[in-house]
Order: sequence, then structure tokens, then C-alpha cells
Amino acid sequence: HAAAAPSSSSLALQILQEVFGYAAFRSTQATIVEHVIGGGDALVLMPTGGGKSLCYQVPAIARQRQGQGVTIVVSPLIALMHDQVGALHEAGVEAAFLNSTLDWQQTQEVERRLARGEITLLYAAPERVTTPRFLELLDELNARRKLSLFAIDEAHCVSQWGHDFRPEYRQLTLLHERYPAVPRIALTATADALTRADIVERLQLQEAGQFVSSFDRPNIRYTIVEKKDAVAQLLRFIESEHEGEAGVVYCQSRRRVEEVAQALVDAGLAALPYHAGLDAALRQKHQDRFLREEGIVMVATVAFGMGIDKPDVRFVAHLDMPKNIEGYYQETGRAGRDGEAADAWMAYGLQDVVNQRRMIDESPAGDEFKQVMRGKLDALLALAEATDCRRVRLLGYFGEASTACGNCDNCLTPPELWDGTEAAQMMLSTIYWIRKQDGIGYGAGHIMDIVRGKDTDKVRQKGHDGLSTFGRGDAYSEAQLRGVLRQLIAIGALHVDAEHYNTLQLTEGSRVVLKGEARVQLRASINAPAARRSRKSS
Ligand code: ADP
Ligand code: ZN
Repeated sequence: HAAAAPSSSSLALQILQEVFGYAAFRSTQATIVEHVIGGGDALVLMPTGGGKSLCYQVPAIARQRQGQGVTIVVSPLIALMHDQVGALHEAGVEAAFLNSTLDWQQTQEVERRLARGEITLLYAAPERVTTPRFLELLDELNARRKLSLFAIDEAHCVSQWGHDFRPEYRQLTLLHERYPAVPRIALTATADALTRADIVERLQLQEAGQFVSSFDRPNIRYTIVEKKDAVAQLLRFIESEHEGEAGVVYCQSRRRVEEVAQALVDAGLAALPYHAGLDAALRQKHQDRFLREEGIVMVATVAFGMGIDKPDVRFVAHLDMPKNIEGYYQETGRAGRDGEAADAWMAYGLQDVVNQRRMIDESPAGDEFKQVMRGKLDALLALAEATDCRRVRLLGYFGEASTACGNCDNCLTPPELWDGTEAAQMMLSTIYWIRKQDGIGYGAGHIMDIVRGKDTDKVRQKGHDGLSTFGRGDAYSEAQLRGVLRQLIAIGALHVDAEHYNTLQLTEGSRVVLKGEARVQLRASINAPAARRSRKSS
């Protein structure tokens, strides 16, 4: 094995070509592979489709050839394990998995092969890896120095700050404590600075080499539209840009998934629902059809997608806003893995902001956790409200500097801007005065009625027609005011009190808007020019 060390890069290339049939490593793969073959720990951050699997598969094969034994791959998803093990078999690599789909006998057979040193890569679910029975097997292998490497896939699952926390991942700390001499490679496609630091801490990867690839997916075009009639907008988008092509439509709830899938089917599209409420066999059937047939639109909750490697997904649409940029990026990253042009399209509206804020407020989590979640939501809201390059914002969130991309909605059609500051001030001062006067808060609808001077029962009963702002914004449409409110909430200048019927409350941030120190910039799409003129003249 002494002769192998100097040639680890040629060994790696040889394996890449002979086993996998690829000509060359992509960007950072070569460096990572060499580092891991040499026994170094690694934390790999690479976007979806970047080629993470080879980063541990090639070292696993190389180290096995050098007599160092088996690589244990921890993966949270059964579907992914099956796919990968299947692909490795086809390439002639001894791979196997241990998970709940195996019966007792099959499990025993895998364990026997493992003990005999016949397996190069063993995939296992995190909860399986940390069972006493499995650890005993690892102990034996380790005693014979046949435990080569731990690969921890989807490593962000270890962090509660990530978008897919799995408590079982916490137990993985045990691996390093128990087998400190065995190198580890942790991989993830999404981790902002906070999540990244948490992964390092939780998995004790302080000494590991960090390999951060560019997160840019230049072939994905990002578009975020204002939500009006989401399903009709989605249909227009699909019919005009992606007729007959495969895509994923993400919705927040199971019920919504069903509704939207039905609406697409009614419109003549090949759409299928996917969510955790469907029975497992049906879910599997829909997933298989999506993978094997052409042009299927999968309407799904976030339960769908992780580990599904379909290269020709031409669009990912969000009908409801995700929780944070990491989730958004992970989900949109499933589009265009083949490198061909693809779309990430999202419809976003005031209700999304209200819902997401409420979910955080009402969650049983602690204050610190909620604070972090609010910060992450704010970053996504800022992306949604942005009038400059979306990609610059997205990459910036992951710590990567870039320049305007030319392939997002804002770059392709620079939005005309409209200054909504005055409308914002009108609504904020209305909120201030009626709370002062009545001692209670009101919801968005009522505030807009006052500013637009509408003669409703509530306005009359409460005497709100006597306010100085009553009717002062009569030139604005409801859509315009809604846009202004949405932006105010997005920038934290307004708070939606979920515990009190979604009433609106001023915040510290309201003051800077009221004083004119911060301007509220909106897209002109929600502005009818007439409104601006008549307001100016009043
Ligand atoms: P990730 O896990 O990062 O999402 P994968 O490991 O699934 O990405 O790789 C994405 C696709 O790119 C796969 O089809 C894989 O076979 C292919 N791929 C990865 N590395 C290379 C390479 N060096 N040359 C050619 N194809 C590659
Ligand atoms: Zn751009």
C-alpha cells in the first residue's frame, strides 16, 4: 500500500474512467477525492447536480483497493439509497444498503457480506447506523482495520438551523467519538453560514478541509411573480413555456396539492399529486411515473424531491412560499440538472408572508429558534421583493459574490419602480391612530378600507371615517395597497399579530418609514400610473 500513496490522483482518475466511464473530474471533485483518499476529513458544499456522489464513491473504491475496507454511507432517503446502489451495481461495484425495506434474512445476508469484507460501499439510514447491533459490526471491522471511511450525505440534516433537521443525525456524533481514526466526508447542497458552522460543530469537523463549490446554477432562470390567481398564473406559465415538459409544483399543504393537481388535470396536463398523506404504494407509483414517463408534472409538498435524480426537470414552480432561502434553493435546484435551460418560478403574495410569520410565531419552539427562523424568512422575503438581480441575492446569501446574471426576471425585464412610501406612511399612521384611539388593532382589509375611503359598516360603527387619513389614498387600488403592506411586512416595518386575529402592529422599523428615512420601493406592475398622478394633485 506504500506504492499507492504517490499516485492517488492517477488511481482516482483511473477509477473515474474505468468504473464510471467519465473522462475527467469536474471542478473541485479532483481535489476532494484526493484529499479523502489520503485520509483527510472533508466538508463538501456543492449544489444539487454538482456531482457530490463521486466525491465519496471514488475514494471508497480507491481505499478498498488499497485494502482499507468498507465505506459506510449515511443517507436519510431510502429511494436515494436504492438508486445509488443500483447504479453502483451496474458499474460493477460491490454496494449494498441496510434499511427498513429489507427483511430479517436479507439484513443478515448483507451483514455477513460486510463481515467478510465483500462490500465496498454500504448505505445505511442514520437511525440504523447508531443501533447497538450495527455498532458491534463496525467495532469488529474497526478492530481489523477494515473500516475505511464514513460518508455523511445531506449533512445539513444534523442542524436544526437547516431546512430539514432530522434528530437521528445528531446521533452520528457517536461515529467520530467511537472511531476517531476513521476519516469522514460530510456533504450537502445547501447550507448558509449558520448551518455550515452548526454542521462543523455537531459532526466535529473542525479539522476537516472545507470544499465550497460555486452554488450558481447558470442554466436556471429565476422568476418571482406577484400572486393574483396562482393556479391560473401557473397554467399560463406552463402552457406558454413548458408545454409537455416535466416539472415539479410545490404547495404548502396536502389539500392544496390535491386541488392544484386536479386543476392541472382538468386543464389537460399530465399532473400527479404527491404528499405524505397518500398511501406509500400510490406515492411510489406516482414517483415512478414521474421518473420514467415524459412530461409529468408532479404537484407535491416538500415531502417530494430529496434524492430524486431526474436530469430533465424543466421547471420547478412554487405556488406557496417556502420557509427560507435554503429550502427554496434546494427545491429549485431540482430543475435542469442536465445543464439545459430550466425555470424556477414562484408566485408570492401577502398571504404567504402572513402564513409563514404565523407558523413561526405559533410554533412551540424556543425564542432563540424563532428569532433565527424569522431572520431566515426575512432573507427570503427580501429576495421575493428584490428589484435587482435575484441570482446576486441568492448567491450572496450563501456567501458568494457575483454580478448581475442576465438570466433572471429582474435582469431580463428590469422592473419599473414605483415609490410606495407615501402610501406606506398613510397606512402606518392609520394603524397608529386607530390603535391609540380604540386600544385594539385591526387587520389589513380594514386598514385598506380606511385609506381608500370606503364606506363600510365597520368604518361607520368605529367612526374611522373621521380619521385624517380616511380616503386620502382613494386613488390607490387595493392591489397597490396590498403590495405596500406586503413589502412593509417583508422589511419588518409592520408586524402581523397572529395571536390577535392577524391584526397589524407597528414595529421599531415603522418609524424610519414614517419619518421618510426609508423608502418603500415597489414594482410598477402593481401600480396604475393614474393613481400616482391623482395623488400628487390632491
Ligand atoms: P449531487 O449528488 O451533487 O446532486 P450527483 O452526484 O447525483 O450530484 O451527480 C449529478 C450528475 O452528474 C450525475 O448524473 C453524475 O453521474 C454526473 N457527474 C458527476 N460527476 C461527473 C463527472 N466528473 N463527469 C461526468 N458526469 C458527472
Ligand atoms: Zn439576474
